[in-house]
Amino acid sequence: MDQDRDPQPAGRCTAVHIEDPTPCRGPRDAVTILDGTGNAAAGCEHHGARMLASIDGARIEPGSVVGAATWAFAASQTIRPFCWYASAPRIEASQLSHAKNARRA
Ligand SMILES: [Zn+2]
Repeated sequence: MDQDRDPQPAGRCTAVHIEDPTPCRGPRDAVTILDGTGNAAAGCEHHGARMLASIDGARIEPGSVVGAATWAFAASQTIRPFCWYASAPRIEASQLSHAKNARRA
C-alpha cells in the first residue's frame, strides 16, 4: 500500500488540489489560504504550503494552529508550483520554487 495516499481523500482539508495524492498533516484548519480573487480555503499546514506555492497572488493567514501560517509560508518558498505533477517540466520560472528563482536572479 502506498503510504502517501490518503485512504479517505474526501476527508482531506479544503486546500488540497484534487490531483495531489498526499494526506493532510495536522489539523485541517491550521491555516487559511486566500487566492487573491476573493476565495478562501482552510487547510492543513502541508496542503496550505502547496497551495500557496501553486497560486500566483495567494496569501496565507493564521488558522487554528499558532505558528502554522509562518511554517507553511516558509515551506511554500521551497516548493515547486503543482509539485505533485512528477513529470512536469521544471525549466521556466513559473515551474520553479520561489527559492530557486531567487537563486537564479
Ligand atoms: Zn490538507
